[in-house]
Amino acid sequence: MHNLLERHSDDALESLSQGLVVSPETLESHLHVGNLFRRRGDIEKAIHIHQDLLGRAGEDATLVSQVRLELARDFIAGGLLGSAEELLDELVHLQGEPISLEALDEQRLICEREKDWPRAIELAARLVPSRPELSAALANYYCELAQDKGRTGDRSAMQELLREACRVDRHCVRAMLMRLDCELWRHDHPAAIATMGELARDAKAFVGEIVPLLRRYDALGVPVVSEFLRGLAESEEVPPVILAVLAETEDDEVARQWRDSLLQRVEQHPSWQGIGEYLDVAGRDDKKLTVIEKIAPIIIGLYRTMPRYRCGKCGFAGRELHWQCPSCHAWNALRPVISPL
Ligand SMILES: [Zn+2]
Repeated sequence: MHNLLERHSDDALESLSQGLVVSPETLESHLHVGNLFRRRGDIEKAIHIHQDLLGRAGEDATLVSQVRLELARDFIAGGLLGSAEELLDELVHLQGEPISLEALDEQRLICEREKDWPRAIELAARLVPSRPELSAALANYYCELAQDKGRTGDRSAMQELLREACRVDRHCVRAMLMRLDCELWRHDHPAAIATMGELARDAKAFVGEIVPLLRRYDALGVPVVSEFLRGLAESEEVPPVILAVLAETEDDEVARQWRDSLLQRVEQHPSWQGIGEYLDVAGRDDKKLTVIEKIAPIIIGLYRTMPRYRCGKCGFAGRELHWQCPSCHAWNALRPVISPL
């Protein structure tokens, strides 16, 4: 039914909606027509359809609430936040109705848009028990607020908020990195090392993000910190950490070993990023020809696996030319890739 609706012209859709009786059975189709206009950006028409629907919905309270929620969504999409808030406020007070949670969530999204973090926190905290996946957003609201406090120089309020962020989302990488920022700022190196260890354990992909922070607070030369980093570079082989350790190394032989470990890494996991990282430091002791000999097989290997065609509609990429995209089924959407990077 919905796919059929998508194919109708706008006028046909509108008259279809007006000709159809409003009942719990047909409500979904009615709402769908309005939402279709909203998705297309024709907010005025969406509002018109939903308001018309409201006039015809009769006494059924659930029906009326559902239409009002969609109307509020139209207002939000049209930037009429005041009118949306008014509608949502009423819906939120329908205790015990599933619709009140949806209204609460729309209010949360408005707060996000308006960067009203204290209220966003309050709303998200009410939603988390029934929607645990929102705890990641909640933690980010605490981080946003912490960042605001940091800007005004209130570091203790900042740290308190970051603790809250980690409490609601134990894996909040952003909160961990911001906590590291605070610890480095107050030269608490043991605490910083503990936080970096936690990051290496829980958020390995982001370990490289500690390097700019260590630079900002001149912590790379601090003996306990550089010792920890060397250990991290050896065990986790994170290129940004290896590069940071390499930059601090004065012993030529040790530096060569670190360069070799970068090369080994890119041989095992070929990537343009890795090649760039290696080439950036390789020229210091090796002759150019040796560097090319080492790197050429990796580049050729990458070239042979590079996608040759990409879909302009959905981004699907592959090495064979399809006239119909295997992913989004659009015709003539695949084009030869000119710039692979
Ligand atoms: Zn496609």
